[in-house]
Amino acid sequence: MSYTVIARRYRPQTFDDVVGQEHITTTLKNAITEQKVSHAYLFFGSRGVGKTSMARILAKALNCVKGPTVNPCNKCEICRRIAEGTDADVIEMDAASNRGIDEIRSLRESVGYVPLRARYKVYIIDEAHQLTRESFNALLKTLEEPPPHVKFILATTELNKLPGTIISRCQRFNFHRLTSQNIFNRLQQVCQREKVKVEPGVLASVARMAFGSMRDAESMLDQLISYAGKQISESDLEVLMGIVQQNEIFVLLDSIHDGQLAGIVKVCHDIFVQGKSISLFLDQIISHLRYLILILAGTEQSELLADEVLQDRERYLEQAKKFNTAFLMAAIDQLVDTRQKMKDTSNARVLLELALFKITQMATGFSGDRASTESRPVIPLPAKQPVPPSRASKNNPTGENKAVSSKESNSKENTRPIKKEISASDLNSSAATKTTVEIKNLWPEILVQMKENSQRVYALIREGRLIKADEEEVLVGFGKKYSFHRNLLQDVKFRQVVEEYIEKVSGRKLALATTEIADEMLPEQPMNGSSENSQPTNQLNINSSPGRTNRGSDALSEMLQDPLIKKTLNEFEGRVVNLEE
Ligand SMILES: [Zn+2]
Repeated sequence: MSYTVIARRYRPQTFDDVVGQEHITTTLKNAITEQKVSHAYLFFGSRGVGKTSMARILAKALNCVKGPTVNPCNKCEICRRIAEGTDADVIEMDAASNRGIDEIRSLRESVGYVPLRARYKVYIIDEAHQLTRESFNALLKTLEEPPPHVKFILATTELNKLPGTIISRCQRFNFHRLTSQNIFNRLQQVCQREKVKVEPGVLASVARMAFGSMRDAESMLDQLISYAGKQISESDLEVLMGIVQQNEIFVLLDSIHDGQLAGIVKVCHDIFVQGKSISLFLDQIISHLRYLILILAGTEQSELLADEVLQDRERYLEQAKKFNTAFLMAAIDQLVDTRQKMKDTSNARVLLELALFKITQMATGFSGDRASTESRPVIPLPAKQPVPPSRASKNNPTGENKAVSSKESNSKENTRPIKKEISASDLNSSAATKTTVEIKNLWPEILVQMKENSQRVYALIREGRLIKADEEEVLVGFGKKYSFHRNLLQDVKFRQVVEEYIEKVSGRKLALATTEIADEMLPEQPMNGSSENSQPTNQLNINSSPGRTNRGSDALSEMLQDPLIKKTLNEFEGRVVNLEE
């Protein structure tokens, strides 16, 4: 069974077949038409972008029996031989190989002979930067006085390694790296012709992973076809390439945003257990973050975005809105750094986890409040411990760390209770703190002042419920249905207003932090002390410290008359209003 690899079978045969190098094909076609073909060309560009293919097409264009022509026939003996790389007058040399070196040595003699049957002797020298000094000298002499029947095409990936004397004697073409779209389109054509059915997303992933090299992309497709046959699914791609599904990247980013370290640990664990490539995973996260930046920069419709992003635009857009560019850039920086470090260590997994934790810390820090509510208890990691003292393990009666257990079936189940637990424990533990009592008592006054001076912020904060306060921050809980209010309060300009009034009334410089609280903690269903063995803080109320209410503050008594405030008070302190006078 002989199988010709796709890269060879679908090698471009005409100028118009060449993808992504129109700036070169146009110039070459013009040169042929105007009979101004240079005696030496230098093709420069990264691997797999079509340099050798272009060289062969140019050779055919010059030597085709119907030529010189911009449309070589691809049928005559000469065209066919050149396409196969076996034509006697088109000499392909690989400067990196020993044979190449020998060939260059004899080059000065061989250029003197006229072509056997074609118009020109065409020397295609691949990896030209690998030539020895001796070979360069031999080549240079020939380039200085080229016989009219000789053409040189030098190809290189490393222009800076070529002597200036060589470069200056060639007409230089800079081959572009191919875009993911270029590659994607090509792969799609190949699959159609090969009658290979591919799940959406597969080709886009391959195109992205090829980093601008058509040859790499085609060889990946070869591998996929030989692995999966004529039906290629996303999971085939995952298995073969060791990549992670895009959905998992979305979930990971959500976990990072929410400060859910347990979820992050689980993703790392899964990748490790499934033997997926950690560095490839890092690359995937990096390009995902990059797309989010592009979307935030308003390039939603742009061709800068890969096809898969355009197909899933809504989801990318939604996620992009959760972050800001500063964070995304810092996160990419961190990951690129980690990627570099990974080369020198066997423990890539630890580095991956650490990097993701750092990013989580940045994410929660950048957006302000969340750091202080959900993540802060977890994030300050002991310096050398990659796995955080997970709160998830607290929920686990067996004491084994659930977060890294492979038996863990669902990361959502794992992370959900954490939020609740934090809120509940905050409620419980905070009952005793002095600051909490103090701020609780001043809270109505803080609200009143805000209502008078900053209606908008007041309208937001009043939907929250003061949970606790300490020396650093005031924590206000919002039910799920008030997440809109909560989100707005994460904006620094609104948050600052609240902090300003907290300081004004209490004399304390405290940061506002918000958290999501379970719906059963909402005032509409006042938490009943009997349902919990602890003392919920909402039993604190203005009336429980009568001195407070009668402190003689005009604002306070005024406030108590205000129906809106009554409602607010009702929401914050379920019992206060009932006990009023
Ligand atoms: Zn021909």
